[in-house]
Amino acid sequence: MESETPAKNIVSSLKDQIQRLEERKPSLKEILDPFKGILIAGAELKNELETLPGPQMTSPDPMRLSAGVPLLADVDLKKMLPDLKAGNKKMLTALGTAFPPLKEDVARLLAHADEDSEAPAVWLETLVRNEEEAISELAEDMGLEPETLRFVLEQALKPYLQWLAYNLTRHVEEIAWEKGYCPICGAYPDSSYLKKGDTEQEFLMAHGGQRWLHCPMCSHEWRLRRIHCPYCGNEDAESMEYLAANETPHERLYVCHKCNKSLTCLDISELIEKPPSDLIPFELLHLDLIAQQKGFIPLAWRHWNQMTTS
Ligand SMILES: [Zn+2]
Ligand SMILES: [Zn+2]
Repeated sequence: MESETPAKNIVSSLKDQIQRLEERKPSLKEILDPFKGILIAGAELKNELETLPGPQMTSPDPMRLSAGVPLLADVDLKKMLPDLKAGNKKMLTALGTAFPPLKEDVARLLAHADEDSEAPAVWLETLVRNEEEAISELAEDMGLEPETLRFVLEQALKPYLQWLAYNLTRHVEEIAWEKGYCPICGAYPDSSYLKKGDTEQEFLMAHGGQRWLHCPMCSHEWRLRRIHCPYCGNEDAESMEYLAANETPHERLYVCHKCNKSLTCLDISELIEKPPSDLIPFELLHLDLIAQQKGFIPLAWRHWNQMTTS
């Protein structure tokens, strides 16, 4: 009989959290259902990765980081990653099961990875460096839409990026990062949350709490000033605002009238329990849709939002 290990606990707690979210927001069930398998496969893979020795990286140049170059922007990821074959296969298979229309596309990617064992690590580098052209070329080779390919690769390779980020966080903790994109992988946030500061004075100075941004690719979280648009850097409070329904004032949509981008935000300061950060984008998905209806563009508008709601 298998025993209840900490790794199993993480996976079962994720399942509980997803179930609680569905109970809170029954309308999300349809969207969340296909993602359950992917989220759970990802958590299982992350658990496996955590048993490996962490990635090695020489200390980054603090000047480059301070200048806004994300930690993984130009490193040789292939050298830092373990063998991706089994994990990549696990994730792609979960994706094909979750989204039957993607089954054939996923099969082509699996065949490609079988032929070229380095391919998944190269894909991951392409994503982190946001190499549009390489993504388009691969999409053409695979007979896929670039956005679909990006979605599939992001989902499949996310556990590896999360593992890298988790192990490398110490490199970015000490630097002053005042950018709206992730200091580790460079992606724009898909959600944010507000929490109480550590002291009353900090609470007052931060105008009611700290704002933390969540990365959709590597799950890293970083703090950014409240009055600062993560996309255009606008700091004019007059041209930024947030929208919230009267019944749910803790669920907010922050918009910038200068660049027309939006970002959802959960104020957790009064909540009894904070949902896992990876679930907050689902929790607030309805606000991303409202943003679009109002002509704003969610900062990290992912293909899946459109795919699952159309
Ligand atoms: Zn990131
Ligand atoms: Zn802006």
